[in-house]
Amino acid sequence: MGMLFLFIGTKRFDFAHVAGKTKKRKGQDATVKIPENTATVPYRPIFDRSTLLSQFKSKVILEVRRAFLDPYFKGILFTAICFLIMNEWAGDSVNGIKILPVTYRMLGSLTGSFDLFMLILIIFYSGQIIWKERELKADSIMDAHPVPNWIPMLSKLIALILIPGIMLFVLMLVGLCIQTWHGFYDYDIHLYFKRLFLLDWTGFILLCVLAFTVQTIVNNKYLGHFIIILYFLFGMFKGMLGFNHTLYFYGSGSGAMYSDMNGFSPYVSKVLWYKLYWGACAVLLAFLSNLFWKRGLVGDIRYRIQQAKIRVSPSIGYGILIFSILFLGSGGYIFYNTNILNDFYPPKHWEKQSADFEKAFKKYEGRPQPKITSVNCSVDLFPKEVRLEFSGTYILKNKHDVRIDTIYTAQKDWMYNEYDWGRPSELVFYDSTLGWKMYAFDPPIQPGDEFTLEFSGERKRKGFRNNGVDLLVVENGTMIQSSSLFPSFGYNGGRELSQKLVRKKYDLEERKKLPDHDDIKGNQNALLGDDADWVNFEAVMSTDLDQIAMAPGYLQKEWQEEDRRYFHYKMDDQIFNFFTFVSARYEVLKEQHNGISLEIYHHPKHTYNLETMMDAMKKSIDYYGSIYGPYPYRQCRILEFPRYASFAQSFPNTIPFSEAIGFIMDVDPDDPENLDFPFWVTAHEMGHQWWPHQVSGGSVKGANFMSEGLSEYSAVSLLARERGDKQLRKFLKYELDQYLDGRAFDSKEPPIISTEGNEQYIVYNKAGHTLYAMSDIIGIDRFNRALGKFIDRYRYEHDPYPNIGQFISTLREETPEDLQYLITDTFEKITLYENKAKSANASENSDGTYTLDLKVEAKKVYSDSLGVQTTAKLADWLEIGVFGEEMKDGEKEEIPIYTEKVFITDSISTFEITLDKKPFKAGIDPLFKFVDRDSKDNLIKVSFESTKDNI
Ligand SMILES: [Zn+2]
Repeated sequence: MGMLFLFIGTKRFDFAHVAGKTKKRKGQDATVKIPENTATVPYRPIFDRSTLLSQFKSKVILEVRRAFLDPYFKGILFTAICFLIMNEWAGDSVNGIKILPVTYRMLGSLTGSFDLFMLILIIFYSGQIIWKERELKADSIMDAHPVPNWIPMLSKLIALILIPGIMLFVLMLVGLCIQTWHGFYDYDIHLYFKRLFLLDWTGFILLCVLAFTVQTIVNNKYLGHFIIILYFLFGMFKGMLGFNHTLYFYGSGSGAMYSDMNGFSPYVSKVLWYKLYWGACAVLLAFLSNLFWKRGLVGDIRYRIQQAKIRVSPSIGYGILIFSILFLGSGGYIFYNTNILNDFYPPKHWEKQSADFEKAFKKYEGRPQPKITSVNCSVDLFPKEVRLEFSGTYILKNKHDVRIDTIYTAQKDWMYNEYDWGRPSELVFYDSTLGWKMYAFDPPIQPGDEFTLEFSGERKRKGFRNNGVDLLVVENGTMIQSSSLFPSFGYNGGRELSQKLVRKKYDLEERKKLPDHDDIKGNQNALLGDDADWVNFEAVMSTDLDQIAMAPGYLQKEWQEEDRRYFHYKMDDQIFNFFTFVSARYEVLKEQHNGISLEIYHHPKHTYNLETMMDAMKKSIDYYGSIYGPYPYRQCRILEFPRYASFAQSFPNTIPFSEAIGFIMDVDPDDPENLDFPFWVTAHEMGHQWWPHQVSGGSVKGANFMSEGLSEYSAVSLLARERGDKQLRKFLKYELDQYLDGRAFDSKEPPIISTEGNEQYIVYNKAGHTLYAMSDIIGIDRFNRALGKFIDRYRYEHDPYPNIGQFISTLREETPEDLQYLITDTFEKITLYENKAKSANASENSDGTYTLDLKVEAKKVYSDSLGVQTTAKLADWLEIGVFGEEMKDGEKEEIPIYTEKVFITDSISTFEITLDKKPFKAGIDPLFKFVDRDSKDNLIKVSFESTKDNI
């Protein structure tokens, strides 16, 4: 389509492009001051400031007009508009998940693929504009005009700069049109302006100046293009060459992520300083362009340097001096921020650190360490000053049956101001580079001994870093996990390098996997770390007056003191040693549900999906409560945080939820093809309130599956119940596709029982898909009864923690004999089906019913972890189904009219089915309940033969 417009554009405006016309116009403009046709009349030209100004003005108008009337430019503009629209149209819905066209989402999708387009445009036009006269062979005439160099130079540069400006303006119009077209009227014009013109355009201007200067100096159009391309290649590979400092790369350093909650706040100072630095650099380049501006016949480089020297007037000299000072001064300030206030790391620094750390301290892994039993802390946030102070007391206990004489801890000096063990100890080792401390205890800590650790510390955003900005505390919407503040003990493998090739580079053996699910030692430590089992938790938080601060637990007291707001939270049950501290300017939606206070703390503008989320909380509490036992808390709170991270995470009765997922989703309740993402994510997070917040696995294989997988099962199961078959079908297909995509990229797929937790495609997607399908075949009541039994047996159990083996055996207890194979297939093997509809012929009977002859093919294969397949014996319960067609709102819609579970033992099976409604499609596994790499062939269109009754 774009090409079509380009073609039309080129044809249509071709006439206007002939050199003659442009020349004539140029001639007219140029004669304003110096009318050549009156040359015989005595005439004294006046050259003063006003002459220069009007010369400049007319030249700018001329250049801009010439650039924009260029037929190519119009073609490009049309192409761009079509490109933008098609881009948005194509990316509107990913896997049936739609996001509202809020302004930042529009900007993201529109600018994302547009940048390259702009770069090519600028490179192309820098040559085009500079070489215009020369290509028209009009340069000698133009150069003879009595105008100073800077007039043609600057007017051409301005025309070049305006090109990306216009493109961005068009992009903004397209964005506004798309928003309007979607019926979305919450336009953020200020955001369009900030992002497109303050951030993007200024970036493109820098590029324009660079491309322009290169063209001026090298004096060869194609060489000029080539040099700019080299500059991009340098940008792409500079990290590999060891140049990762932003000061080296022209135009870099001013990326900024927008969040509705927090605007661009964290990045403002960084962006301004970098813009000043590179802006000053660009002005210097422009001076260079002016000095080397080609005028008259081309001289060699020596002649041009000589010319440039002559051209340095006092005003140019002062200009160069001032902007050099600005350039060096702002560069110095940036260096102060990136290398002095903050640490600067060359590429691969962290990789090497991780390898060194592992080599030095892995030997201490698994040494008995005391466990935390209670956490009492205070976190004082100062959002305006982007800093926080924290302090806390741990109660620790030696839960092992051996004495402990050394505590190991990954720690650097800046982390804590205070770090006092409540018993005699001595710091006997400290590696300040890698951050490792060893405390010796004399007398040693005896089994059962309890003691305390008091700690305090401070964090503050210090200026900006080379690679970004510290987002630990933000102006609005801080979300901190306790693990990034509070002390932890022993060697933590989480820091180890995971990629095989990278590990090899540092002579590290392949990373040791988690122990098997029934490993005794592994099951002594919790899934979320070996620092603690379940703990008591209490926190006092404070924040600025206009914000609400939150931590897990029930609010005991709220008060104000010295213009600050204080909140005291306490949990009355034991919880994981894993907390979150949140503070933002919130609006609150509160509802009571069976004595439970349901609360959503959200950004005032993000009201789009609140009802769905609230509904999902209620339904989860009711449904999960009826299967897994009552919801154990008196409250549940969803807390929105900025989109610097896009996940939701469950803490007991407290669920931080990114603004990027759930809050700005576009769900059409009447469109079953539309996945109800906010409902699903909320339901998943609610599932975590049982798994693992009541039953958690240990530090072994399969434990993460019990947490994520069972939460995902809970969500799919609730979705099926609330949203019906159509949504379920869509959802199972989504989960299945995600799983199949995931396994295609994993060279070693483990069966569920051996998952470690990083296999997202299994612990989420396969779980959602396969556990639901399993519950459907075994019978949802039986399946849920097994889950209820499992949770009752192991609630808050630790030492040992329950494992997936116990989960599987509980499930087996509830599963009939003829379906036991399904449990083996699901958890212990990687099972795939190759199901296919072969033929479907129907005839209408005289009583208005239909008889359908359906022939299907089924095949089951087992895949080993390397993907080698073996055919399995088929004696399985599968499902066949028939869809009919119905008119709904003037559109044809497929609706299931028949589904039946069937026991299949042969590869080809035939069924004769009598139906009340006219069949449209029929086949095997119509709801995508079985793992099948090609699910498109599951259904086939029903063909109607001339029926027997008619004969
Ligand atoms: Zn989860």
